[in-house]
Amino acid sequence: MMLIELAAPCYLCGKEAVVDGLCNTCYDEQHPLMEVSTPIALLACKKCGSVKVPGGWKKIYIGNMNAEELAEAQIDIVLEQELKLFYKGLTISLEEVNKLDRVTHLIVTATGKSHENLPPHDEEHPVEIRFRYGTCDTCGMMSGGYYEAILQMRADGRQLSDDEKKEFTERVTEMTVARYKSDDKAFVSLIDDNKFGIDYYIGSEHLAKDIADHFEGRYIAERKENFSLVGEDKTGKKKYRITILLRLPRFSIGDFVLVSEQPCQVLAMGTSNLTCFNLIRRERFTINPRNPKWKTLDFLAPLTERREFMVVTHVFGQPVQIMDSLNFDVTEVDESVFDSKITSGAKIHGLFVEDQLYILPDQAFIEIKEN
Ligand SMILES: [Zn+2]
Ligand SMILES: [Zn+2]
Repeated sequence: MMLIELAAPCYLCGKEAVVDGLCNTCYDEQHPLMEVSTPIALLACKKCGSVKVPGGWKKIYIGNMNAEELAEAQIDIVLEQELKLFYKGLTISLEEVNKLDRVTHLIVTATGKSHENLPPHDEEHPVEIRFRYGTCDTCGMMSGGYYEAILQMRADGRQLSDDEKKEFTERVTEMTVARYKSDDKAFVSLIDDNKFGIDYYIGSEHLAKDIADHFEGRYIAERKENFSLVGEDKTGKKKYRITILLRLPRFSIGDFVLVSEQPCQVLAMGTSNLTCFNLIRRERFTINPRNPKWKTLDFLAPLTERREFMVVTHVFGQPVQIMDSLNFDVTEVDESVFDSKITSGAKIHGLFVEDQLYILPDQAFIEIKEN
């Protein structure tokens, strides 16, 4: 006897049933891949393009986007909130069908399987997006001049150079941009370049402290924090604003300092320590504020005090003759003070300290700093 299994017909349309008593088409219709409501209201910040989402604003790095690309990015954000996907592994594609001033009509297509035994299919949903424009929290605070912290950059016994100020501003900008998406207050309301130094009015106290930590270590700066009462919040809790003052040392890379009364050149500054070259002992060393010798650290001379010389003659075992490039005075120095091979015509540098000439180490690190 032969058993012939007859497929039952689809109870909706009568075609051959495939899954759960339904044909392929009817099953797909009864089991949509996704759901989306329409129309969708999209509230965007007119200044920065952020999109309102539940609980806040979602930021967008606009970069070189044109208006159309920005609108697409904004639509992606609301759709991410609004689309309900019922199956894993779906592919979503968007097609713009009509665009008016503030209304965009799209076809959202989901591609995938509604059942493992059925082939993938496309499911189309027309969606209308209605744009509205406002001001996001960040732009609102920024235009209101909001700030929680002032970061004041100063230098000990000298003015900050324009290069230093430029470097600080670049770093402040980098660190602020890096925090842009995660901190609504990551902005700088005001940069005040004044006769004392440069001040940054920063929206987020947290960001200001992180920038201060970075600068403190990077420049071995002295730090002072002050709080001033700015009012009370709704619950009567006192609100303070922090001022962080960072005072850079008088010297910077290439300058000359005294450490335990010995002349040294600053080779590098960073992560809370100073690398110097001792001009008497002719050796490198590092020192940090926890080292007892740090207290003996004193400014000696700026980099501009160094002199350039040319090696005139050198006979092995005899003093080396060098000529001052400015006044052509010829001086003899012991060959032991040279760290590298001595060649006639080579340019070297030296520093006079109380009539004593010290030959400086290779000055290439200065050029690196200047570039
Ligand atoms: Zn059917
Ligand atoms: Zn905004």
